[in-house]
Amino acid sequence: MDIHTQADPHAEIRAEIRKLCTRFPGEYWRELDARRGYPTEFVAALTEAGWLAALIPEEYGGAGLPLSGAAAILEEIQASGCNGAACHAQMYIMGTILRHGSPEQKQRYLPAIARGELRLQAFGVTEPTSGTDTTALRTTARREGDRYVVNGQKIWTSRAEHSDLMLLLARTTPRDAVAKRTEGLSTFIVDMRTASGLTIRPIRTMMNHNSCEVFFDNMEVPAENLVGQEGRGFRYVLDGMNAERLLIAAECIGDAKWFIAKAVAYAKDRVVFGRPIGANQGVQFPLARAYAGMRAAEAIVQRGLAKFERGENCAEEANTGKMLAAEASWAAGEACVNTHGGFGFAEEYDIERKFRETRLYQVAPISTNLILSYLGEHVLGMPRSY
Ligand SMILES: Cc1cc2nc3c(=O)[nH]c(=O)nc-3n(C[C@H](O)[C@H](O)[C@H](O)COP(=O)(O)OP(=O)(O)OC[C@H]3O[C@@H](n4cnc5c(N)ncnc54)[C@H](O)[C@@H]3O)c2cc1C
Repeated sequence: MDIHTQADPHAEIRAEIRKLCTRFPGEYWRELDARRGYPTEFVAALTEAGWLAALIPEEYGGAGLPLSGAAAILEEIQASGCNGAACHAQMYIMGTILRHGSPEQKQRYLPAIARGELRLQAFGVTEPTSGTDTTALRTTARREGDRYVVNGQKIWTSRAEHSDLMLLLARTTPRDAVAKRTEGLSTFIVDMRTASGLTIRPIRTMMNHNSCEVFFDNMEVPAENLVGQEGRGFRYVLDGMNAERLLIAAECIGDAKWFIAKAVAYAKDRVVFGRPIGANQGVQFPLARAYAGMRAAEAIVQRGLAKFERGENCAEEANTGKMLAAEASWAAGEACVNTHGGFGFAEEYDIERKFRETRLYQVAPISTNLILSYLGEHVLGMPRSY
């Protein structure tokens, strides 16, 4: 049974990604998972093949693919049993530089990223005290002559140890000195290779995600590294969120396809009480239900991608698709574990690893509650809850 998307305009991309992923089987990921290692070889292979430059326009040396092309790449990575979390951020962070960066910044960074000489994998938004309430963040960037001096702390900055650049959101005007709390925040490109006053501390988590705490102690950032206008950074970050949500949703759909394919194959093969376990409706139905959920999420994500590419507002689809896709991958994971019985818990089946990995997406980069409050307020027109 082929449960991958039929009549897909990106079928060739999918086939190439599937081929590349065969070089990185379960053993590769299991070994990294055990020691919380970074998949350097996998990321290098994707970079060399140009896949991480998918969204960089051709004039800067990238592939210039539409967002649906990037979604196909990430979905296929997940559906092949690999983990795109090691490098997915490059695809959506880069959009901020592309949309709001100066011509000099684009020339300086985008071709080098496309060539694989620079890694833009770190996105410093979340802080320990502010959490989801981003505008309450406390990291400050104070202008002093031709530079900004940054003080504060980020948390959950994924891949900080494996990135050359970080896109940083910091407050440049105090919250009580701006008319709206969304004002006075600015985005910076931080060159982490040369920055002094920067400390990175890894956080060990339930899955291998290379997330870190990052501390800024009088870290100096050249003023030329400010992206766009000072004070408009929150707006720039928001601009990229629909793309980010659609890409993460595509990864969840890939996870769901992996779980379903794995479970269906096992259900047909495993014989208990003299017949394949998949002949029992108690085994079959959760998989059929997970499949239906995945397909529904996929349809909404595809609609969101099409709207995005037409330049239409896709916030409803990006939010709904991300929530449903994260729930679909989790339901598929549950059904896959149950189908495998005890073997679902054995590391060598990769199910428990994928199960831990896909759980994240109900919390990050945006939690399900915050998506529901977006839909309640902005789509259904109910009063603001926070
Ligand atoms: C592994 C991992 C990787 C991450 N990578 C990055 C990264 O690279 N860069 C980055 O900037 N961030 C990153 N994050 C942070 C992530 O985006 C946040 O964890 C997430 O947005 C939730 O924020 P929080 O953890 O502060 O939870 P909180 O904001 O403290 O929320 C806790 C709980 O309360 C709920 N809640 C809060 N407010 C409301 C409300 N008004 N109504 C209803 N429910 C509410 C939330 O839904 C959540 O369930 C990562 C997180 C993890 C775990």
